[in-house]
Amino acid sequence: MAKSFLSWPVVRQFTGADRLGRGAAARSAATEEIEARTETADRVARSVCPYCAVGCGQKVFVKDEQVVQIEGDPDSPVSRGRLCPKGSASKNLVTSSLRQTAVKYRAPYATEWTELDLDTAMDMIADRVVKARNDTWQDLDDQGRKVRRTLGIASLGGATLDNEENYLIKKLFTAMGALQIENQARI
Ligand code: SF4
Repeated sequence: MAKSFLSWPVVRQFTGADRLGRGAAARSAATEEIEARTETADRVARSVCPYCAVGCGQKVFVKDEQVVQIEGDPDSPVSRGRLCPKGSASKNLVTSSLRQTAVKYRAPYATEWTELDLDTAMDMIADRVVKARNDTWQDLDDQGRKVRRTLGIASLGGATLDNEENYLIKKLFTAMGALQIENQARI
């Protein structure tokens, strides 16, 4: 009885060094047993939050080759260790059993998705881009002015694209002669 009374947080607060009750005095025996996943990880990888164009830095903690925790990276000049609630939850995105890890393809008129390997999917996309460009290429407009463009291809980027990706997308699509190059953030 005396032992449990002496272990009360308020008793420890007024008899120990933690007079404000913000540290050792308020800590329970159960809390003392807990080890942070960040302490027991095998290694830490640096990454960037995938959710938005802010690009906050992340530290990805790995144990037994599994992602066990993702935290803000204090060394990131962009975010200095902070993550918003969305970024803080990105472990769920990485480890979710609902995460799609294969290319899904639904053929015209098909009612079901099929899986494709990445090389096949990339070839199919390239074939369609080349065909769309060839089919819709315009050297001159209807008034005979030189335009050298295609209106058959457009790009709509999302907010998860970073500066470098947007730069490359703009270069690629402009080089192909596309005019409609937009981003969700501008719309
Ligand atoms: S942590 Fe939040 S603000 Fe930072 S990149 Fe991710 S979603 Fe954007």
